[in-house]
Amino acid sequence: MAKILVTGGAGYIGSHTCVELLEAGHDVVVLDNLSNSSEESLKRVQALTGKSLKFIQGDIRQQQDLDQAFASHQIDAVIHFAGLKAVGESQQIPLTYFDNNIAGSIQLVQAMERANVFNLVFSSSATVYGEKNPSPYQEDMTLGMPNNNYGYTKLVIEQMLEKTSIADDRWSIALLRYFNPVGAHKSGCIGEDPLGIPNNLMPYLTQVAVGQREKLSIFGNDYPTQDGTCERDFIHVVDLAEAHVLAVENRLTNTGCRAWNIGTGQPISVLQIKNTFEKVNDIVVRAEFSDRRAGDLPSFYANNARAVAELGWTPKHNLEDMLADSWNWQKQNPTGYKA
Ligand code: NAD
Ligand code: UDP
Repeated sequence: MAKILVTGGAGYIGSHTCVELLEAGHDVVVLDNLSNSSEESLKRVQALTGKSLKFIQGDIRQQQDLDQAFASHQIDAVIHFAGLKAVGESQQIPLTYFDNNIAGSIQLVQAMERANVFNLVFSSSATVYGEKNPSPYQEDMTLGMPNNNYGYTKLVIEQMLEKTSIADDRWSIALLRYFNPVGAHKSGCIGEDPLGIPNNLMPYLTQVAVGQREKLSIFGNDYPTQDGTCERDFIHVVDLAEAHVLAVENRLTNTGCRAWNIGTGQPISVLQIKNTFEKVNDIVVRAEFSDRRAGDLPSFYANNARAVAELGWTPKHNLEDMLADSWNWQKQNPTGYKA
């Protein structure tokens, strides 16, 4: 059993990871500034698991928030989710993204050094493979330049962490490269609750299904894919959360910096998502084809063999589970965590 500091733990992936950490017997301290989440998610995590966690409302860019967190708790490892993640917004306000994600990560790593904590799991993204690598993506491919500022922050942080671990062998760092997280906890008590108009496919689709938005725009149907719409590797958020538990446990007994792809390895098209969602949930989703969205790649998916072999991780949820669980959360919480 270890004590884990979870930055950004009140958010979508963070809250699901807190559930899995608590259920695996670990102690959890969450540090989150609630800029894109609400404390309600953490109340529900505790109600669901019957276990308590510590919450600190703080910012990773504030040295004293971090130092205080490490001084008040005997932390063994950090899982670092905190950051901004909206691709479009990152093109409009790049400096805000560089400050939150890159400068925030530097502050965190420095605070860890001061506190003698050297085990870290970082939320990276498949975007670090850039635009030219063919799928399935493999961890040892040469990384490419992401085509947006959000993705650029992930690449910079990965490289910064790798160089830090090369310079000082006390570090043990996991870079988890997520593909497309969807779904929610089976209970429907926690899930994805984006502020404003969702950018991502799944929350947009469920908001159409629940009657909050008029129709789904499917961005492009002339891509060189099986049905003309983009293909992605959708991964159930609970499988993703389990990968964090395995990665943090792995880091407690290893050193160096290691990247793992966390995806199912199956390319699924946007149209397939919409059609399967309708079938699984017995509901019609109004949709129309519209222009391509700038910057979208036609298709990408993971080779997940390294995570399977080295972490002992396997995704347990299929596409139907992902779509049923996303809908269950949205149906039970039509306005998310807001009353
Ligand atoms: P989220 O926005 O739900 O969670 C991020 C959390 O970090 C929020 O609770 C937010 O309040 C907090 N936060 C932001 N800036 C902070 C700061 N400066 N100090 C303290 N807390 C701060 O997002 P998510 O979908 O759960 O994503 C978690 C991580 O995974 C992010 O780093 C994201 O970039 C990465 N990621 C997400 C996806 C995805 O599709 N959801 C894909 C790949 C990578
Ligand atoms: N997409 C869509 N309509 C939407 C949102 C997304 O057709 O309202 C498509 C998008 O073009 C991409 C896929 O769904 O092909 C996944 O997009 P998302 O933003 O969820 O994740 P990304 O893969 O871009 O990180």
